[in-house]
Amino acid sequence: MENSTTLTKNKWGFRGNSDLKVEPVTTIRGALTLLMSNLNVSDGRPVIPMSVSEPSAFPCFGTAQVAADAIAEAVRSPEFNGYPPTEGILPARRAVAEYLSEYLPTKLSPDDVFMTLGGHQAGQIILHVLGGSKSNILIPRPYFPYVDVFAQKANLEVRFFNLLPEKNWEVDLDSVIALADKNTVAMFIINPGNPCGNVFTYNHLKKVAETARKLGILVISDEVYGHIVFGENPFVPMGVFASITPIITLGSISKRWMVPGWRIGWLVTHDPDGILKEHGIITSIKQYFNLSSYPPAFIQGALPHILAETKDDFFSKTLDIIKESAISCYEGIKDVPGLTCPTRPQGSMCVMVKLDISVFEDIKDDLDFCLKLAKEESVIILPGVSVGLCNWLRVTFAIDPLYLKDGIKRLKSFCVRHSKRA
Ligand SMILES: *Cc1c(COP(=O)(O)O)cnc(C)c1O
Repeated sequence: MENSTTLTKNKWGFRGNSDLKVEPVTTIRGALTLLMSNLNVSDGRPVIPMSVSEPSAFPCFGTAQVAADAIAEAVRSPEFNGYPPTEGILPARRAVAEYLSEYLPTKLSPDDVFMTLGGHQAGQIILHVLGGSKSNILIPRPYFPYVDVFAQKANLEVRFFNLLPEKNWEVDLDSVIALADKNTVAMFIINPGNPCGNVFTYNHLKKVAETARKLGILVISDEVYGHIVFGENPFVPMGVFASITPIITLGSISKRWMVPGWRIGWLVTHDPDGILKEHGIITSIKQYFNLSSYPPAFIQGALPHILAETKDDFFSKTLDIIKESAISCYEGIKDVPGLTCPTRPQGSMCVMVKLDISVFEDIKDDLDFCLKLAKEESVIILPGVSVGLCNWLRVTFAIDPLYLKDGIKRLKSFCVRHSKRA
């Protein structure tokens, strides 16, 4: 018999896949772990999380009662105990097609809809489907960090185009044209915007579609924040422009219903001219699903009720709180030395704030700023480097308004304390 000493001396032949390693600050979770480990545990004040768009942590952002009831009922039903079909159960796919078609010129069919484990998996799937040794994809900077990491892991070369802060974070279409070549497969947009809190206009989205058509590429639109808009621009789904160029949209109930933990979303193909089909994209999506996991049957079973029966007053109540928070964040940051918000947030749950490092005495860059802020004020804000823009911050305002006020106050005293003396 071997004893434990010989066991520990053994040279084992296995180890984790080094390809899975990413720099901590290049994912939101990695950056948060770093910031949380820097908190001062003896600070008696509550930690203010202005870093993740997860309002479900606050009682004022509870989900709709009908949504919770639909889940409970689906769990009790024997109908949803088995494996669902890989692409999703038909009533759920039909419900999503109907929910989205309300805002589209042509009606979607359930066959256009694939049920996924949130918007996150929908993005992962389409990036894998498009991956290939020579292909490249155009991604906005600043970005939502999962997009570039998944694209790289899917063997797609990532090329970044800029979003323009002085133009309300519109896509720099000239840089899109300059970056594209014959191996470009798609451009990726996020609307309403994370991390910028912008909402693209109808005219701008039309230009995006026309540019993609000229380049012969498809547009992937992450619309996980669909309908979370509170400024002058209405939410226009990208599918509206599917007759110009093929479109794939990603969505979920995570943000609008404040239930990111339920893990249900969708990948939708808008392909009226059959271009995606002709080029094997639909087949590849189905092949991916044959290998992958999918949302639990009972959550899919509840989805038709959730989408059809949630009343407008739930949405308007939550939107009112988010809007109030967005305004108080924007106004509050105006008097913080060293920080500027180039545009008033119009949608989603966060906004980009520019850091003027020269104002501060002893702060090196955005990451240093966020680490010191966590330690000294127990306020967690995501450094811009995590979303591709150094010396910016991504501030999440969708938290309880009282916490937000406190957070902005602490942020201000931090910035005043670290400013160079006049
Ligand atoms: C939160 C978020 C996601 C992930 O959505 P899930 O439905 O929770 O997977 C994807 N994209 C953006 C832009 C997000 O903000």
